[in-house]
Amino acid sequence: RDHRKLGKELDLFLTPEEIGGGLVVLPPKGGRIRSIVEDFWKKEHFSNGYEILYTPHIGLAKLWEISGHLGHYKENMYAPITIDEQEFYLKPMNCPFHILAYKSRTRSYRELPLRWAEQGTVYRYEKSGVLHGLLRVRGFTQDDAHIFCTPEQMNDEITEVLRFSLYILRTFGFQKYKVYLSTRPDDYVGDEARWLDAEAALRRVIDDSGLPFAVDEGGGAFYGPKIDLKVEDAIGREWQLSTIQFDFTLPERFNMTYVGDDGQEHQPYMIHRALLGSWERFFGVLIEHYAGAFPVWLSPVQVNIIPVADRHNDFCKKLELELRKKDIRAYLDSRSERMNLKIRQAQLEKVPYMIIVGDKEMESGEVSVRLRTGEQINQSLESFIAGITKVIETKSVELQ
Ligand SMILES: [Zn+2]
Repeated sequence: RDHRKLGKELDLFLTPEEIGGGLVVLPPKGGRIRSIVEDFWKKEHFSNGYEILYTPHIGLAKLWEISGHLGHYKENMYAPITIDEQEFYLKPMNCPFHILAYKSRTRSYRELPLRWAEQGTVYRYEKSGVLHGLLRVRGFTQDDAHIFCTPEQMNDEITEVLRFSLYILRTFGFQKYKVYLSTRPDDYVGDEARWLDAEAALRRVIDDSGLPFAVDEGGGAFYGPKIDLKVEDAIGREWQLSTIQFDFTLPERFNMTYVGDDGQEHQPYMIHRALLGSWERFFGVLIEHYAGAFPVWLSPVQVNIIPVADRHNDFCKKLELELRKKDIRAYLDSRSERMNLKIRQAQLEKVPYMIIVGDKEMESGEVSVRLRTGEQINQSLESFIAGITKVIETKSVELQ
């Protein structure tokens, strides 16, 4: 199940030495999966009241001074780049950019909450010894979001983030969860009353969720309490994916405000959250969870079409086009190799369905479908298409 081994065998990702450690390249199959996940992620974010932001990869040293990253986080950042005698740093986080978008004009309580998401690629220094496939990398894309809200909205927002997070992770086929709450450490910053409110809200949401949980008293970051959501994979290992983190320092450092219904300026609550965590790590976990045999909706190739002999190629080509027109990722294996070898290869590539076409199939109009589980079914092309379309639309982990 090692994702590094599967990644190579299934051609899902590369970490070429020539580029540098911990920097990931996605070849077509990995790229296809990522783009499916991103499309799903975007659609769900828009329909759940989020807007999507795009921000640069580098920012001036001054920005990272204000945000406190150069004070607290410098050893995790790449060395600066100097252009026109100005120093720029690669971003280790997306937050300051979102805050500047917030501060681009006066905000009223009427427009809150704001939920701003980004597939933001960040760079952090990790020692070369700890780099590990997709799980520990130096460049990665967080499925980040920041929620800016009033104190009255905070409770509902946290409830909603947890619900949304569970919905997304369940869609990817994870069934078991555990929540970890980290509370106020001794060296906290910010207003004590806000900390207590935020912790109470997090506890309430965890209680209501009915999920098993553990509390790490005093284990929160100095800037705010958080909950982490860990999933259990197919062989019982726990992986931390989602994080919901309050921040009482950035709104202060950037002097963020909104105008309340009393006409006065107030400081908004700021919540950082990531559902998948980072795309790279999530992909690594997904590969190991499914041992490379992804659910159909995520499979880069969904159907391999295998002609028994060369004379069946034209018919197969038409079949490939027909399936592709129905948004089914079909691939015709027209190499002049033996049929059994092609079947075996598709099996190794964990392609969910194989359609084998010979004389009998061409005459009868029925297709002979072989599932990657080894099962074999003969059915009409229409019923095969109807079946696979349903499996894809429902994002089922089953093949039929
Ligand atoms: Zn953030």
